[in-house]
Amino acid sequence: MPPSPAPAEPALVHAAAKPSLAGLTRAELAKALRLMELPERELRMRVSQLWHWIYFRGAADFSSMLNVSKAMRERLDVAFSLELPEIVEEQVSSDGTRKWLLRLAPTNVSEKPAEIECVYIPESDRGTLCVSSQVGCTLNCSFCHTGTQRLVRNLTSREIVGQLMVARRRLGDFPGLERPTDGLVPGGEGMRAVSNIVFMGMGEPLYNLENVEAAIEIMADGDGLSLSRRRITVSTSGVVPQIGRLGEECGPMLAISLHAVRDELRNELVPLNKKYPIAELLRACRDYPGASNARRITFEYVMLKGVNDSPAEARELVRLLKGVPAKINLIPFNPWPGAPYECSDWDTIERFSDIVFNAGYASPVRTPRGRDILAACGQLKSETEKLRARARMVAE
Ligand code: SAH
Ligand code: SF4
Repeated sequence: MPPSPAPAEPALVHAAAKPSLAGLTRAELAKALRLMELPERELRMRVSQLWHWIYFRGAADFSSMLNVSKAMRERLDVAFSLELPEIVEEQVSSDGTRKWLLRLAPTNVSEKPAEIECVYIPESDRGTLCVSSQVGCTLNCSFCHTGTQRLVRNLTSREIVGQLMVARRRLGDFPGLERPTDGLVPGGEGMRAVSNIVFMGMGEPLYNLENVEAAIEIMADGDGLSLSRRRITVSTSGVVPQIGRLGEECGPMLAISLHAVRDELRNELVPLNKKYPIAELLRACRDYPGASNARRITFEYVMLKGVNDSPAEARELVRLLKGVPAKINLIPFNPWPGAPYECSDWDTIERFSDIVFNAGYASPVRTPRGRDILAACGQLKSETEKLRARARMVAE
């Protein structure tokens, strides 16, 4: 007879009665299986089996795990699920960008389900998934819409990995699944629908470092999801003390939201700069473990009309980055209702980009993607909420 469901531990509590195993680390999986009173000698083997089914095959239920005995599959099914965050809404842009609104199960009984957004950007040679690390953000960058929302909570590593798993299931990116038929997902022999991850959704990843690192370890594990760390980029507004730690402990690619070349202006745009000014931030970048010309740090620079977009600032940017293995990413500002800024004119962006390019930096201007579905950075979730509120007003 199968045993009764294992008592749920706080870290494993799930809205449904059964805690999900999808998104757990190896240590968490072992802990969950220990609750089933499996003998220690069996644990390692079971963890490896589950790891393969969950992360390599993308199994949606225990019954498909054919090399696990039927009795064991039934026991697992009684105690656990393989549920992922729920897709509440999907929007597909005319350029193939997809935005999912995901509902997360509460992490404890007193909590309401939280919602986050996750955006998929297909290109001819890659598919990039933009993931969130927090619900809301504690930092109040003046040009970012997420910054106007309060922090609700950190995401668990399971919820961060869950975003990749949901995307891969939806995009038919696990063995035996079909790609969507709309032709908007890159594919072909050996090409993955999701080849790159950027932590550029909601939240400041370095304020949730442990969970972000645990998630990256799962995403990069060669027996499972198997993404190269060179294809995982963590973007930070500049939490200096955590930058070195991220590099030493985990080693993903680093992106810095710089946005200004003078402390006075950066204090205004990215208030965290008052705590960790530009010189300290750049010192942490120079020391970032593993940074080299082959593994450059990306500096993001949002183009704000009349604020940070002069040729003098472009020249100062080049001077500041001397000695740092850097790429520069110019981002056209994505306006949001009530935003105190406008996007720089195209000519101004080009002039800025030319100065940076002539100094030897590749300076791609990030083409806005998914504008028709409001999938742009800093607009996630809040826009959907506003649209819903507007729709409700119209309906009432
Ligand atoms: N908190 C982290 C990661 C999330 S923000 C960080 O700040 O780096 C991801 C990127 O989107 C950052 O470079 C951020 O500065 C940029 N961004 C935020 N709001 C934006 C907007 N309205 N237009 C363009 N880029 C924006
Ligand atoms: Fe937070 Fe990044 Fe937005 Fe700043 S830009 S408010 S750090 S999400």
